[in-house]
Amino acid sequence: MVLSMVDQHKPKCHLCSNVFENLEELRKHQDDAHKEFTEFHKDVSDHSPTPGDVTIF
Ligand SMILES: [Zn+2]
Repeated sequence: MVLSMVDQHKPKCHLCSNVFENLEELRKHQDDAHKEFTEFHKDVSDHSPTPGDVTIF
């Protein structure tokens, strides 16, 4: 599988510019690589079940 230009249809981590196959992969990545970031957002919106404010462009 060739990693080419950024696929605009795939979710992109705005923290490190990595592109993932789907939202699940992105969430798993952010939960692992940007744990502090995701936990920060969980803390802010403690009534939301999932961090759904991930920016995807
Ligand atoms: Zn990232």
